[in-house]
Amino acid sequence: MRRNLLEQAKAPDLLQIPINIPTLGREEIKAVYAVLQKGQLTSSASQGGKNVQEFEKSAVSFVKSKFAIAVNSGTAALQAALYALDIKKGDEVLLPSFTFVATANSVVSVGAKPVFVDILKENYTIDPDDLRKKITKKSKAIIPVHLYGNVAFIDQIIEIANRYNLKIIEDAAQSLGSTLKNKHTGTFSDLGCYSLYPAKVVTAGEGGFIVTDNEKLYKKLQMIRNHGMVHGYDTRIIGMNLRMPEINAAIAKVQMKKLGKFLGIRKKNAKILSELISDLDIQIPQERKGEYVNWYLYTIATKNRNKIMKTLNSTGIGATAYYSTPVHKTPFYHKKIRLPNTDWAASSVLSLPVHPQVSEQNLSFISKILHKALN
Ligand SMILES: *Cc1c(COP(=O)(O)O)cnc(C)c1O
Repeated sequence: MRRNLLEQAKAPDLLQIPINIPTLGREEIKAVYAVLQKGQLTSSASQGGKNVQEFEKSAVSFVKSKFAIAVNSGTAALQAALYALDIKKGDEVLLPSFTFVATANSVVSVGAKPVFVDILKENYTIDPDDLRKKITKKSKAIIPVHLYGNVAFIDQIIEIANRYNLKIIEDAAQSLGSTLKNKHTGTFSDLGCYSLYPAKVVTAGEGGFIVTDNEKLYKKLQMIRNHGMVHGYDTRIIGMNLRMPEINAAIAKVQMKKLGKFLGIRKKNAKILSELISDLDIQIPQERKGEYVNWYLYTIATKNRNKIMKTLNSTGIGATAYYSTPVHKTPFYHKKIRLPNTDWAASSVLSLPVHPQVSEQNLSFISKILHKALN
């Protein structure tokens, strides 16, 4: 029984090189087992259960924020953050279209209107100049996304936010561990939101968390996570069940201990891959001065992207286009707006595997096939 569990937790056949998979081990299995044995699967107390509290402590100490609130997804984290800032119907929220759809969906879920901003070609994050142009009297908040783990041009975004009196919620779902001048993404603004989905750098199964230095917002978020209640059956503000289950928190708690090691391997893999493919006529991802990237996704930009992706996929390499359909072009949003850099990125980007289970041999293979595909 025990051996079976361990085998299932191991990576699938690495001849197939998936773009991102969770790296789990004996410690996670033990932690889940302990929760089940104890039988305390969740807690409706406003501070959450034991594992939730311990996970929050590890999150706070890692990103160096004052407070963290664990929730049951990254999407829930964004939604809770918008509620906490009283974003509602009639408000506009500025965000990139070049992101995972959850960023925009969370805005719609609180009744506000997403306003799509173009990105910069150099690191695929929100373009401060286009951002400034799209501000109206209704603008209330900006959600910069640290896409692929690349740090958005946050200094300029903060300057704009201050000037126009806008709130900032950082979508740091992909950037846990990324820093600028030694400050963690998610801690530059009022609220930072992270995801613990299995494909992210660390996982809870499903989960997410919000960090803040603002005690008022922290208390409010604890209420929002739990039906807007403080002591139970005393709903004071709008809230929902956004609680993280104890099993998920137990997994996340263990994963946080391994995060530093995971990031080290990702960085090493990214460096090796960059050296192997530096001769190719493609855009290679780079860290700017003062930036530390978590290498959640190693993303190149190239001509003939679809053809190259097909060739890589046919050899078992999980090269993936995040995102070939920007949010404003999905059927639900279908906006006829011009976002030229977003369109360019949507047809050019290709992410290559560098997660902790990718070996040096895998990287050589990826480089070999990529060279073949480009010639
Ligand atoms: C993963 C992700 C989310 C949503 O997180 P979930 O945990 O899947 O709900 C939001 N924004 C971005 C940019 C993401 O990559």
